[in-house]
Amino acid sequence: MRQLILTASIAAALGIASGCDHSPAPQQAAAAPAPRPAVAEQVVDEHSYAEPDKVRTTDLALDLAIDFGKKQIAGTATYTLEWLDKAATQLVLDTRDLEIQKAEGLGVDGQWRALQFALAGKDKVLGSKLTIDAPDRPAQVRVTYATSPAASGLQWLEPSMTEGKQQPFMFSQSQQIHARSWVPLQDTPRIRFTYSAHVSAPADTMVLMSADNDPAAARDGDYTFEMPQKIPSYLLAIAAGDLVFKKFGDRSGVWAEPAMVDKATAEFADTEKMIDTAEALYGPYRWGRYDLLVLPPSFPYGGMENPRLTFATPTVIVGDKSLVSLIAHELAHSWSGNLVTFATDKDAWLNEGTTTYVQGRITEALYGQDMADMEHVIDRDELKQEYRTLKPELQRLSLKPGTLSDPDDQSSATVYTKGAWFLQFLEKRFGREVFDPWLKGYFDHFAFQSITTAQFRDYLKTQLIDKHPNVVTMQEVDQWLYEPGIPPNAPVVESGKFSTVNAARIAWMGSAKLPDKTITDAWGTQEWVHFLEGMPDTLAQAQLTQLDEAYRFTGTPNGEIAMRWYPLAERSGYAAARPAMGAFLERVGRRKLIMPTYKALVATPDGLAFAKAVFAKARPGYHPITTGSVEAMIAEAKPMERQEVPEALHPVDPAPQPAPTK
Ligand SMILES: [Zn+2]
Repeated sequence: MRQLILTASIAAALGIASGCDHSPAPQQAAAAPAPRPAVAEQVVDEHSYAEPDKVRTTDLALDLAIDFGKKQIAGTATYTLEWLDKAATQLVLDTRDLEIQKAEGLGVDGQWRALQFALAGKDKVLGSKLTIDAPDRPAQVRVTYATSPAASGLQWLEPSMTEGKQQPFMFSQSQQIHARSWVPLQDTPRIRFTYSAHVSAPADTMVLMSADNDPAAARDGDYTFEMPQKIPSYLLAIAAGDLVFKKFGDRSGVWAEPAMVDKATAEFADTEKMIDTAEALYGPYRWGRYDLLVLPPSFPYGGMENPRLTFATPTVIVGDKSLVSLIAHELAHSWSGNLVTFATDKDAWLNEGTTTYVQGRITEALYGQDMADMEHVIDRDELKQEYRTLKPELQRLSLKPGTLSDPDDQSSATVYTKGAWFLQFLEKRFGREVFDPWLKGYFDHFAFQSITTAQFRDYLKTQLIDKHPNVVTMQEVDQWLYEPGIPPNAPVVESGKFSTVNAARIAWMGSAKLPDKTITDAWGTQEWVHFLEGMPDTLAQAQLTQLDEAYRFTGTPNGEIAMRWYPLAERSGYAAARPAMGAFLERVGRRKLIMPTYKALVATPDGLAFAKAVFAKARPGYHPITTGSVEAMIAEAKPMERQEVPEALHPVDPAPQPAPTK
């Protein structure tokens, strides 16, 4: 997923201490015997009621109907079960806000018979435990159920909230533990299963899943899907709406609303090249097709690596491909994550850290070292900012049991950036000629498994460190894995492009002379982001006006620039930005992009009133995840009157210090 990234202050405020020729046949890959874990350990998933050591799902068959009027998915889920514990006679499933109507077991005579079940009370984070008594240990169990309109893993959009404004839209976001709000299941990444689905919907609605979507499928309201590779539950995904397809090549293309599909196809035109680049590094793409689904702007994240069908925010479509590293990230998950994933949320870095590392390699290969360096600097600056206030226990790559009450509260700086930084450290020490084959071997060795940090550490020790002595010690490895903070041996990246940006900013701060147009004309999103991030906490009105007249920051269609400009404008009391700021917050629901502006607004009584008014209008279009974050920020606001800064006292030093007050 990309990206949960919130800045430190936001995180603190939220209580977060945030069809292809070269690939093997999917059936072959799925049927390969799973290697045994290299190390024996007790694996406990604190965020699931399921008991996969007793009985586990090997296949899930869904038969569902989508009802836009009721904002409901209803139907049956049938589990093929492997009973592992001879004494086990219960199947325990995770659910949240589901209405469970019936549970049945398949008898040896082929007849379905009713089973007793009990749905426990609701835990705020985990949902409700569903216990099904299955004394005969049937090979299959079937549950009949319906979702709630408030399902945390689904968003239902009225036609007015879509690009085309003709048809309603719905989509799922199952990660971290929201699959249980639309399917009762063993909702833990510890286990993997194949799945199939039959879905009915209004006849003019296209339905897609994280499965074998057919680009030529007739739009008739009746769809079937197969996912022959084993996936963890968080990769179960569905979307429905007025969606059309346009191809990039033989094995990739984009699904989007008709009004968006051409723009998306142009922006993401390098997708085939990205697949080729990743394959050259890490071996064949094993999932068949790789398609993108562009969602409405309310999608709460940047992207979600649903296998065969990446879900992506339209906020990265900015016209110059400068934000397509998001696609590199989601594609990278096809190796790091979807192929080799984490066993529990304590090991989330194995998913997002390795993916952020692979994303950097794809970006470097396609867009050059300068671009990769700039993105590393931006990420690491965010980490350093976040670590000023983040609880030390959330700075460990491998979390201790009990650290994380809600898996949605992972520190993105830790799991994404520190995780990638660790692999960049290993790469620098061993060199690519050694490290690259090792990482490729790691993906092959653990393919279609869910592993722990201990398993990763064991494979690293035996297959890399012991084979190349005197390069990296296990003490160094363990400092990365088990200690808070940034290890002293972390490699440093310098960006020549950012040196130019820093010089331009400092010169402007001192002289009010804007950098030469020939310099700024060559800047892309990353340079503008860095230009703004280096600004002091507040600027004078004259400075803001000068920047705005020159660069049109207010009203920018680029969310990465907006998420940095609007908070600066608001902290500085720059009222001219307010109308465009409000429109931005109403149009975009991607949490990372909008939370910094809400944070700046709620700091003053006048800003808080504005934030409440904007939120009231924006709320119907926001995803439940975004709504929850904004509600919490407004509820916990402690507004204070803005301290006016005399123009003469504005600091010329761009260090991120609070502005002096009168
Ligand atoms: Zn990711």
